[in-house]
Amino acid sequence: MDISAEITNLKENGNFRAIPSGHTAGVIDLSSNDYLGLGTDIELRKELLRAAIDKQSALTSSASRLLAGDQEEYSLLEAQLADLYPGRGALIFNSGYHANTGIVSALADRHTVILADRLVHASIIDGAMLSRATLVRWRHADYGHLEQLLDKYYAQGVQILIIAESVYSMDGDRADIDSLTRVKREYPGVMLYIDEAHAFGVEGAGGLGLCASCSPGDVDVMVGTFGKALGSVGAFAIVSDEMRHFLINRARSFIFSTALPPVNVMWTRLLVQRMTSMDAERSHLRTLGARLGTILGTGSDSHIQPLVIGDARRAVQLSQRLLECGVKVLPIRTPTVPPGTERLRFSLSATMSMADLDRVEETLRSVGEAIVSNLNGNKDKK
Ligand code: PMP
Repeated sequence: MDISAEITNLKENGNFRAIPSGHTAGVIDLSSNDYLGLGTDIELRKELLRAAIDKQSALTSSASRLLAGDQEEYSLLEAQLADLYPGRGALIFNSGYHANTGIVSALADRHTVILADRLVHASIIDGAMLSRATLVRWRHADYGHLEQLLDKYYAQGVQILIIAESVYSMDGDRADIDSLTRVKREYPGVMLYIDEAHAFGVEGAGGLGLCASCSPGDVDVMVGTFGKALGSVGAFAIVSDEMRHFLINRARSFIFSTALPPVNVMWTRLLVQRMTSMDAERSHLRTLGARLGTILGTGSDSHIQPLVIGDARRAVQLSQRLLECGVKVLPIRTPTVPPGTERLRFSLSATMSMADLDRVEETLRSVGEAIVSNLNGNKDKK
């Protein structure tokens, strides 16, 4: 690998990334995944810290889950989650990245065909690569294309794993879960895996995600993460008891990595309890989403929306100009999104007000027009 050449190449294409510095006090932050504002809730943080001191909650687990001496916090959180998804069990992972790489590579092997939506997250792709399965992508949200591929591979008698997200991380659109579960029922033996990273906390009754209302057998694996709307860290899978035992024995990211610190798990428990009753915040988020959809011309009401620019340099330039004017929106470039769809990714938080979005609109109009010609034609560009 010629490292210098790689860096030069990244810079020349406007794809060079650096860790941002400084803090952004006073800035409207549309770059975070803290959709409910739980991650910045100081009162809740104090409540946790008081409880953690009382309990002398450990700051490290010192071992992987299979070897850790004290299982109390993990068991309590898994029981809490299992209660929220009746008929299923829960297994905690250290992150969404650990969950997806570990579960996908445990479920699939070189005899498996993984059919994944074109836009699934990198951690799913990495899991597929680790598994050595054949990875075939269906056109984003095109369930007819998924069925065509299913017909082809089902006839070959191979094991098939369908993977989708419920809310897509870079486009913010929602998958049609009914179509996915219907397709699964039509092809007995096919497994369905849904990543709810950007839906957990925001979508569905009680914020439990878009698959929460499915029957237990409809979705074989549902993954949720704690690092986004929940304001914590880690992830979980909702699965049958049998699948849970299988993953404990076969998911290498679960077996071979030190478990999350118990104090973090305690924090997650507090947040899960709070999150399920935050319907007012979820409804406000939806109203903000509709307003953002009008500003960007996407027609969406999602908490995540793109302004597709189609050029990395212009995306970076617009992001910088917006930040100078007090609006933080990050540019998303290749390989996170396909080449030609480079964009700004706007994400909302229930802590924002309509006045904040008025300011976003004004700022975008005043600095954006010179850089992006399609400010209101985002929909056509996609
Ligand atoms: N799945 C999706 C859809 C994601 O967007 C992300 C994070 N960007 C992950 C999984 C990984 O989650 P984590 O940050 O907890 O590793």
